[in-house]
Amino acid sequence: MIETKAYAAQDEKTPLAPWTFERREVGPHDVQFDILFCGVCHSDLHQIKNDWFPGIFPMVPGHEIVGRVVKVGAHVKNFKVGDLAATGCMVDSCQVCENCKQDLEQYCLEGSTQTYNSMERDKSMPTYGGYSNTIVVREEFVLQLKEGVDLAAVAPLLCAGITTYSPLKHWKVGKGHKLAVLGLGGLGHMGVKFGVAFGAEVTVLSTSASKEEDAKKLGAHHFIVTKDAEQVKAAMGTFDFILDTVSAPHDFNMYLSLLRTNGTMICVGVPSEPASVAAFSLLGGRKSLAGSGIGGIKETQEMLDYCADNNIVSDIELIDIKDIQTAYERMEKGNVRYRFVIDMATL
Ligand SMILES: [Zn+2]
Ligand SMILES: [Zn+2]
Repeated sequence: MIETKAYAAQDEKTPLAPWTFERREVGPHDVQFDILFCGVCHSDLHQIKNDWFPGIFPMVPGHEIVGRVVKVGAHVKNFKVGDLAATGCMVDSCQVCENCKQDLEQYCLEGSTQTYNSMERDKSMPTYGGYSNTIVVREEFVLQLKEGVDLAAVAPLLCAGITTYSPLKHWKVGKGHKLAVLGLGGLGHMGVKFGVAFGAEVTVLSTSASKEEDAKKLGAHHFIVTKDAEQVKAAMGTFDFILDTVSAPHDFNMYLSLLRTNGTMICVGVPSEPASVAAFSLLGGRKSLAGSGIGGIKETQEMLDYCADNNIVSDIELIDIKDIQTAYERMEKGNVRYRFVIDMATL
């Protein structure tokens, strides 16, 4: 077994603290890499607080993981010691179901294995995430990174990046489309970058007027303060797509009213309470309410390559791991521009 240093939550009420555990040995198809940086996702906070479902404790969060390979199994083909490596939200899936065969492992019909707060496929042990010094992942779920990229700023692409890239690709959002990005946080700021890169006319919808300057810097063409009734009224019926990145409760019916006929609102944020949606909000204007979860491994690699080729990274604040609780408190208030990333050298 591999002795591993980490920060873990011992239960849903206790702050993260240093913890040591054992990872599995490197199997023939596994890659072990030492973690250099790990992004801090809003879902880390949801999961350590049991917001979505009862978690598996002790819990080591973190699913935006980049590092360097230190060991490979005998049958590993695409990685060697010293290579850069990355892992996102999944570390395994059945590999044989209809969805897995279509490179949609995130929708594995048997359930994909999450990077943490999940059980290994053989149910032998829980998975533990990236707030740790090293990780062992089967090769099919390890992503490649190009040398020379800003590794800390690349880390959030593994969740925030693919979560926004995948739906924009699926719905073919681009030139000629008016895209609204709802919420300018970790996901939202990546949604803006991709929307702009794909050629859409991008509007940021935010409750906070103070984010307008940043939105424009990120490339957004327009900005609407959603607390301003006049601005909201003027935007009714104007968007082809709304990418909804908000993970706090919000009024779906109001946002659906901003779509034009045949428009689609795509949920990628996950509020802990169900939303109330009136059928009239959808049938008037043949509107669609949709959702999208991360992306498959093939598409995640495509996104990482696209970002490397187009100089797209996340805007980050690098933190020491001892400051993780302060980071969570700030994240809850939306006070981060736009993703905390832990420098794992501080573990
Ligand atoms: Zn995430
Ligand atoms: Zn499957």
